[in-house]
Amino acid sequence: MIKDFIDDVIIENILDKARNPSKEQVLEIIAKAKILKGLTPEEVAVLLQTEDDELIAQIWQAAHEIKEAIYGNRLVLFAPLYVANLCANNCLYCGFRSDNKDLNRVALTMDQINKEVKVLEREGHKRLLMLCGEHPTRSSLDYFMEAIETAYSVKTEHGGEIRRINVELAPLEIDDFKRLKKTGIGTYLLFQETYHHETYKKMHPSGPKKDYSYRLTAMHRAQEGGIDDVGMGALFGLYDYKFEVLGLLLHALQLEKDCGVGPHTISIPRLEPAFNAPAAIKPPHPVSDHDFKKLVAIIRMAVPYTGMILTTRETAAMRAEVFALGVSQISAGSRTNPGGYQEDSSDAFRAAQFNLGDTRTLDEVILDITEKGHIPSFCTACYRLGRTGKDFMDLAKPGLIQKFCQSNALFSFKEYLQDYGSAATRKAGNMLITRMLENKFKPKMKKSIMNKLQKIEDGKRDVYI
Ligand code: SAM
Ligand code: SF4
Repeated sequence: MIKDFIDDVIIENILDKARNPSKEQVLEIIAKAKILKGLTPEEVAVLLQTEDDELIAQIWQAAHEIKEAIYGNRLVLFAPLYVANLCANNCLYCGFRSDNKDLNRVALTMDQINKEVKVLEREGHKRLLMLCGEHPTRSSLDYFMEAIETAYSVKTEHGGEIRRINVELAPLEIDDFKRLKKTGIGTYLLFQETYHHETYKKMHPSGPKKDYSYRLTAMHRAQEGGIDDVGMGALFGLYDYKFEVLGLLLHALQLEKDCGVGPHTISIPRLEPAFNAPAAIKPPHPVSDHDFKKLVAIIRMAVPYTGMILTTRETAAMRAEVFALGVSQISAGSRTNPGGYQEDSSDAFRAAQFNLGDTRTLDEVILDITEKGHIPSFCTACYRLGRTGKDFMDLAKPGLIQKFCQSNALFSFKEYLQDYGSAATRKAGNMLITRMLENKFKPKMKKSIMNKLQKIEDGKRDVYI
């Protein structure tokens, strides 16, 4: 059985050794990152310890080039769906914590979940991230699995349906991961929050989440249970961001060594204010915008083929800046209170997990990113064609997945524009698609894509290759 493999002293030593790097050292590592083979923890530490603004600008530039080479201008969109906010844990940064007696506690019924999903489908969403607090009875695994099945079963007009559900929930045993897999989930996500043991202990004073190593080893158990797309993350602001980035990298490398494949995604949430949550109101190690951009860029360079997820915790302006540095998936039009999509109650904050930095609707976000030249993608092809885990990485690393992703992004975007886009978004979107066809595809491919786009205009749905 896998045991705790994060040693705080080793991380501190790697960071210590990398202090005050020379310009040559930094430039050499930047050059290596551009070969797209990733970086070692020691190399990552050197980039983290770089404080020279000119060199940091070069780190940003390299991350941008890597993002363009691997992900092009695509941004995958999803919506979080909180089904329950009851929780047996007392995480000091979270509004759902058990000591928050003022929170309105809710576990949605299947009927309520059905209604929430209808709202999301009618906005145009195809990908959900379902989450809940950790509660043995009110949000048990059986309840959560029924919630997933309910969400998948909801169909609305215009071919409206959810095509991929990723989940974020408390660590499970291998047998339970096997059961969860059977519901047809995509990625299993779980954030370690902080890799620093002492901080972890302080932040999680009671409840099952107290156990650092049980949480750390969850990805390994998920893989053993057959879930080969897993997503990790750290909650930035709890401890030194440099330590957390190395923690994430060591976690990713250990997983790859033991299971043959590293994480499918890394999430980079930054602490937001939350209702009655002391550590969120006053973050112990706040991460500045400058450092946040730096850490996004360094993660992109360190694990180029791992998707990076950014949520509506961040403001629109900040989101726009970090898209260029390596983010490949974003949430949009989010609510963090269970039931929040159906009604915009003024009391919503009293049931929410944390405050949002970006409260725009999905269509507003899509118009904005389209105008900035990004292609919004709702693609779910890889997971539905079994291109997951190691199979996905084996295609991604030699660049073979690119041609699928580019085309599928266009198909799913076109579908959105036809069925849900406002007039302004439709106009901007169709112009961007035309521009992409002119500049990014060879004639044969262009013809085949145009054929499929025409079919979508004629009413065909769920087109992918
Ligand atoms: N309860 C499960 C857990 O803790 O893993 C499932 C999901 S929890 C609802 C989702 C994530 O929200 C947590 O892992 C944490 O990183 C993040 N979170 C909690 N409080 C936050 C805050 N104040 N600001 C930003 N993210 C927060
Ligand atoms: Fe519960 Fe998760 Fe919030 Fe902790 S972060 S209180 S486990 S919902």
